[in-house]
Amino acid sequence: MNIVMLGAPGAGKGTVAKKLQEEYKIPHISTGDIFRENIKNGTELGLKAKSFMDKGELVPDEITINMLLDRIEKDDAKEGFILDGFPRTINQAEALKIKLNEKNTKVEYAILLDTKDEDIIKRLSGRRVCENCGKPYHIETLKPKTDGICDDCNNKLIQRKDDTIEVIKDRLNVYHKQTQPLVDYYQNEKVLHTIDGFQSLDAEIIEIKKILNK
Ligand code: AMP
Repeated sequence: MNIVMLGAPGAGKGTVAKKLQEEYKIPHISTGDIFRENIKNGTELGLKAKSFMDKGELVPDEITINMLLDRIEKDDAKEGFILDGFPRTINQAEALKIKLNEKNTKVEYAILLDTKDEDIIKRLSGRRVCENCGKPYHIETLKPKTDGICDDCNNKLIQRKDDTIEVIKDRLNVYHKQTQPLVDYYQNEKVLHTIDGFQSLDAEIIEIKKILNK
């Protein structure tokens, strides 16, 4: 089963994708996570991506597309995948389509988490993540048991550089200009499903499971 999660930054694509990964035993693949991992490990790819990410801009397609197409070739993605943060441009969607066509398959579900920008700004500017395992928290709605410390691995919580108000606004602009056209793109492919991105995670998962189990 090949699934693409669509939605603005901070809509909750990663959280939903992680739940679906447990449920359907197919990997959650986040291009943002792959870039952050590379930055942490000081790789050449990480170095190239960092300057774009810090400004809230998209990493160029020639870097991103090859990285993602290599990732979905891995053994764990043989039965499918849940993409989170890819595609982000029509060009990326077309590259994915061509690759999947070669394997006689396609994106079967594009799930849009629908949100309002003002809610996203509140959500992302209050987000904190564990610097070690990446687990997300929120300064008001999802506090850790001990202030500033990850419940799971006891490491420090930090604010992502791209979660400051200025960069969030830039990321939303980039989303509306470059990524939102994918909603029409997947609508034309007849695989688009839209759900309210500001319900509880449980409610979202129930809705998505109904779509996927049809
Ligand atoms: P995310 O964690 O999905 O919000 O991604 C964080 C940042 O990584 C984005 O703001 C981009 O700079 C970069 N990024 C992630 N996925 C992509 C993609 N598919 N295309 C270009 N840049 C990406």
